[in-house]
Amino acid sequence: ERACLARLRHTPAVTLDGEAVELLANIEQPGDGPAALLAGAQGVGLFRSEFLFMGRDSPLPGEEEQYQAYRQAVEGMQGLPVTIRTIDVGADKPLDKGQAKEYSLNPALGLRAIRWSLADPAMFRTQLRAVLRAAVHGPVSLLFPMLAHQREIEQTLAQVALARAELDARGMAYGAVQLGAMIEIPAAAMMVRMFLRFFDFLSIGTNDLIQYTLAIDRADEAVAHLYDPLHPAVLRLVADVIAEGRRQGKSICVCGEVAGDVAMTRLLLGLGLRSFSMHPAQILAVKQEVLRADAGQLAAWAQAVVEADDPAAILELGAASEVPES
Ligand code: PEP
Ligand code: MG
Repeated sequence: ERACLARLRHTPAVTLDGEAVELLANIEQPGDGPAALLAGAQGVGLFRSEFLFMGRDSPLPGEEEQYQAYRQAVEGMQGLPVTIRTIDVGADKPLDKGQAKEYSLNPALGLRAIRWSLADPAMFRTQLRAVLRAAVHGPVSLLFPMLAHQREIEQTLAQVALARAELDARGMAYGAVQLGAMIEIPAAAMMVRMFLRFFDFLSIGTNDLIQYTLAIDRADEAVAHLYDPLHPAVLRLVADVIAEGRRQGKSICVCGEVAGDVAMTRLLLGLGLRSFSMHPAQILAVKQEVLRADAGQLAAWAQAVVEADDPAAILELGAASEVPES
């Protein structure tokens, strides 16, 4: 199976009805680019930058060290786009004790991700300046995790503007970046139009969107059986975000685990998704699903799945939609 899939590495990811689909890699280290390219990635859809910050004895890396890391990630992709997400620590991704701020009672609902960054603007801007400088070396997008409030969006964008002004004042070169938000809190999904007023693109983080929609701690084994990507409430949020992005002609990506799950590919294509970011090992298997799919024909079926009370039952009948109507 793997050997067969390898033949698909240079095959463009296009559906039977001619829809081009972007298959991107999730990476965690600056040196992961070449392996992602070998796996068939057309870019990096999610660089989880927090892995630069985790497990260190020393303080957080400074601007220069971060710049070198992001530059390595960008250059490793040889001109393909790289989306760098700002630090998402807290909850299941704690920094070392020495670095951790207040440890919260309920870490998934606590000072995590963008909240953590906005609580320390000087630290946040150090990362922003490093990313802006790395954008000189290739196409870069900046992605912000866990936004929910308009006020947080405004504060975030103000910090980006300030980071640019600081580089200007120093006379340092930096590149243009696209700005995007993770949609991973139900409130954000419901406010997708507000998000699209501020951002160039959105990326749906289904791992957290499922966790927060269903009130299931994604790291808690005791409730793992209730962690359901096919819960109709989750699907409706995902479908609405994709649909609104398409209406406005803005790029919507899914970068949670479901993007790399071949059992979900046809459904996501049918909902109109054209950008998937996943663990590199999944890229060719998902591409195989894309090559076999007729996106136009899947649309009505996907709508029926989303509107069902038991989407999983209909999804199992999914193969039926491939049989041409006679
Ligand atoms: C997600 O929440 O789906 C996501 C991609 O982010 P992370 O898994 O890093 O929280
Ligand atoms: Mg997340």
